Amino acid sequence: MLLRGKKVVIFGVANEKSIAWAIARLFHEQGAELAITYAGEALEKRVRPLAESVNAVAILPCNVTRDEDIESVFTELGSVWDGVDVIIHAVAFANKEELKGTILNTTRDGFAMAMDISVYSFLAIMKAAHPLMQGRGGSAVTLSYYGAMKVFPSYNVMGVAKAALEASVRYLSEAVGPDGIRVNAISAGPIRTLAAAGVNGFHNILNHVEAKAPLRRTITQEDVAGAALYLCSDMAAGVSGEIHYVDGGYNVIGL
Ligand code: NAD
Repeated sequence: MLLRGKKVVIFGVANEKSIAWAIARLFHEQGAELAITYAGEALEKRVRPLAESVNAVAILPCNVTRDEDIESVFTELGSVWDGVDVIIHAVAFANKEELKGTILNTTRDGFAMAMDISVYSFLAIMKAAHPLMQGRGGSAVTLSYYGAMKVFPSYNVMGVAKAALEASVRYLSEAVGPDGIRVNAISAGPIRTLAAAGVNGFHNILNHVEAKAPLRRTITQEDVAGAALYLCSDMAAGVSGEIHYVDGGYNVIGL
């Protein structure tokens, strides 16, 4: 039980394929107490039964574009818990029309929205969580993709957002490190999920990784959850500001 009694808040469960859901299940098995948020009413029907099946202490709406939603999550949790140990941020969004063709398709509004939902939300959540996380040896993990570092077809504005997210991990780690809070990212290989379905030609990326990655396979949600468990447990007590690849080794290949 690597997370016995740890208070964990998870952002990003949409359905049973969500990476955040695999993390929730594993963390539950490892003794964590969970709070699970969902993006809006439309998702509640799907998320609530999942959250109930892992005995979530709180199941709360949170559209991360709304400061008042983020605030109310932590106000509510402050009343049921004595603090928060772990934040999982598995949230991203860009317009489907901008996840095809080239980055020249990006609009001003689309850029702002991708950055707001996929990057600023992590800063906003950490700001709101900070008072509840101080001095507990806490950990925050967000989800990135190799498209932050290299060019992938159709990933476009989301690649730029992930680059900003990875820089945010480094700045956040410095900001909250003195309070004993660690901040890391997992750069996950491609997995078939709702978010991935928005990227035009995503199956080509999957096929390529399967053929070329050192492990000759794509990764699973469970692979990511295992790495998240390590990063959020005391096993990684000395690790902060890292971008940890869980991609079957794909990122080491040149040709
Ligand atoms: P997913 O669609 O299951 O998860 C994305 C989540 O973002 C959903 O739960 C959705 O509700 C949430 N979201 C979107 N807009 C929101 C808003 N305004 N407020 C609150 N929540 C909002 O897909 P996933 O693949 O599990 O994605 C989780 C994370 O993993 C994302 O950051 C994604 O970029 C990252 N990632 C995914 C892959 C992949 O191939 N699937 C690879 C690397 C990184």
